[in-house]
Amino acid sequence: MTDKIGVVVWGLGAMGSGIAKVLLEKEGVEITGAIDSNPAKTGLDLGQVLGLERELGVSVTGDPASVLKEGTGNVVLLATSSFVDEVWPQIRESVTNGYNVITIAEQMAQPGVSHPDLAREMDALARKYGVTVLGTGINPGFVLDTLIIALTGACAGVKKIRATRVNDLSAFGPTVMRTQGVGSTPREFAEGLAQGSIVGHIGFERSIALIAGALGWNVTKVEQEREPIISKVYRKTAYAEVQPGMAAGCRHIARAYVDGLPVIELIHPQQVKPELEGVETGDYIEITGTPDINMAIRPEIPGGTGTAAVAVNMIPKVLRAAPGLVCMSDLSLPGALMGNVARMVAGGRSDG
Ligand code: NAD
Repeated sequence: MTDKIGVVVWGLGAMGSGIAKVLLEKEGVEITGAIDSNPAKTGLDLGQVLGLERELGVSVTGDPASVLKEGTGNVVLLATSSFVDEVWPQIRESVTNGYNVITIAEQMAQPGVSHPDLAREMDALARKYGVTVLGTGINPGFVLDTLIIALTGACAGVKKIRATRVNDLSAFGPTVMRTQGVGSTPREFAEGLAQGSIVGHIGFERSIALIAGALGWNVTKVEQEREPIISKVYRKTAYAEVQPGMAAGCRHIARAYVDGLPVIELIHPQQVKPELEGVETGDYIEITGTPDINMAIRPEIPGGTGTAAVAVNMIPKVLRAAPGLVCMSDLSLPGALMGNVARMVAGGRSDG
């Protein structure tokens, strides 16, 4: 193992940029490549794209092969899209060039839920090339799955899990505003749901699969409900404007059943400027079991910072894991990386 872990950041939007900035603060890690298809970013020094006042000596390229074929890195941090079909070509190119992959694509938190054959193919390819592929993030990846699983570790038995993440969407960009229906009329919201352009949260089925898999529950049915959060007041962000009577976001609920009983209930009201109607953000986990466990985090763990941190913090776990496609519940618990990452990978701490 060299003295630094080489990381290629693929996708330099809000999240990929945040990931790159977290990486720059870590000891024993080096950004060896930066990939983005946006012509406004390609050819620029990564420092410029990140809005830093210094150059980093890494040029942003739109040609992944030029970076990956150099083979200078150990891991690709992938932040381009939410969907398995869209990130699969990027994962395949990384893996076949010998790179481990950590992606924040929501569907990759447990890709087998929607793409069982492709998940098997990914696993086989990763094993063939001796690398590990992980999907993670704040949600799915942490708040509504990994954290819940960790809390049940103190339970002798669990009857039901109810978890709520009340969050603020104000910092997010146009894609999220559109998929959450922010600024749509109730009629447009209903049409968007029917057409699939408004989807609410993308990760519920993955979080349910992670929890059920870790606890050994055989889920037989998952129900989902989505409804607009109608604003009583005017709200405005950089990418959305909401008049009274329009949707400020989407309240999305998922219920998973075992033997006809609802055992997992995940509730996720997401909206812009919740404080304008006195709504405080927070993450709440209620476990009915032996013992009952109640956890409240106020305000919410911020989605942007949290996503970048979880993705980076999983680097030693992924580099020390057995090759293949893995999920968060396959690896040891995430923790902040406060030491030399290369040394942690080399064996300074028991991980993976
Ligand atoms: P964004 O739109 O701001 O950035 C995406 C970036 O990827 C852009 O710069 C774009 O040019 C680039 N890109 C897209 N396709 C590419 C390709 N084929 N090749 C090279 N570059 C490409 O999005 P974001 O806010 O940074 O989020 C990225 C993804 O992560 C989104 O799909 C988002 O839903 C997801 N996400 C997941 C979590 C989680 O908790 N798991 C949290 C936040 C975001």
